[in-house]
Amino acid sequence: MDKAKNGINTVCTHEGELVDNQFKGAISPLYMSTSYEFEDVDVKRYPRYFNTPNQEALCKKLAALEHAEAALIFGSGMAAISTALMAFLKAGDHIVLQQTIYGGTYHFAVTQFEKFGIQYSFTDGWSVADFEKEIKPNTKVIYIETPSNPLLTITDIAGVAQLAKKHDILSMIDNTFASPINQTPIDFGIDVVLHSATKYMGGHSDICAGVVAASKEHMDKVFQTAICFGGSLSDYTVWLLERSIKTMAIRVRAQNDNAMQMALYLKDNENVENVYYPGLEEHPDHALAKTQMHGFGGMLSFEMDPSIDVSLFFKHLKLIKPSMSLAGIESTLVSPVMTSHALMSPEDREKQGIKDSLIRLSLGIEEIEDLTADIEQAIAKVKSMAVTA
Ligand code: PLP
Repeated sequence: MDKAKNGINTVCTHEGELVDNQFKGAISPLYMSTSYEFEDVDVKRYPRYFNTPNQEALCKKLAALEHAEAALIFGSGMAAISTALMAFLKAGDHIVLQQTIYGGTYHFAVTQFEKFGIQYSFTDGWSVADFEKEIKPNTKVIYIETPSNPLLTITDIAGVAQLAKKHDILSMIDNTFASPINQTPIDFGIDVVLHSATKYMGGHSDICAGVVAASKEHMDKVFQTAICFGGSLSDYTVWLLERSIKTMAIRVRAQNDNAMQMALYLKDNENVENVYYPGLEEHPDHALAKTQMHGFGGMLSFEMDPSIDVSLFFKHLKLIKPSMSLAGIESTLVSPVMTSHALMSPEDREKQGIKDSLIRLSLGIEEIEDLTADIEQAIAKVKSMAVTA
């Protein structure tokens, strides 16, 4: 397939698909075999070697989407992230991590690196200077996440990639929140791209998977560690994920539109104090986001007026589900203070700007009028209860 010519929906639908030579079916056949012939074959295939027919086919699609030479699919986002980190770090090395990263990655760093003699530093903020300040002679990796969770800060991808190259350091990004539809970091010089495919790639809240995408040279290194850690994904889920990705661009673009409209609605809502969405002109990094994102994403956060009880508000929603994960076609929301950031001290949360009234909303594909009406009725209910009490 001529990648340069094809549009994103064509890539999502057709790139890497397997041809059904036996029955001429329209979609990739599913090969569930965990055992393949070893004599007179080009490739010795085995699921934990990440090279079954369905794994190989999906990885071609993933590499094309991320503008990478190669990719691997894993059993979860954390399997992908931990394998990639351990592929490029060894005892005596140092890594600089962005302060605001996914809680699971933070947990991995603070609980695992020391056991392997790997040193780490978290940045104070997310500017290029914040990363530069933390570089040491033994720094081998810089790790970023943008947009970040839960306040949707934007890191300068090209700036960090250049900084890393200048110091001969490998750059890695968690591209989960943006998805490859909204952001292709390899175009900006990033070396290794990571995903929780559980989110926008799966898109229906029914798949747990992870992705690493990079150059062939870097992926060879990831592969050598991956076969030892064994975090491969079952072929049935690989096949299901291939199907999900066919609609990813359509889904993500609808979610982008909903998030933009929801951000504008919340901005004008008298019961809401602050809205965090990189698509809003008043977002401090809006100009930067415009230079590196094709769309501003389906995630936003907002602070309710403190007079509105957040738990009660959640209870009275009829359509939007309070739910831990994100990026499905159904809209969901969480209170970071009650979930992802519950273990952080109130002082640390305050330092990061995470207030008790903060709500993170993941927009689905429902009609925006139905979503705003749901928020409207839940706020009205909570307010009427306060008056009655
Ligand atoms: N990265 C981000 C930004 C996430 O939000 C998550 C999960 O919520 C992960 C990584 C980890 O992915 P998984 O839960 O698929 O292991």
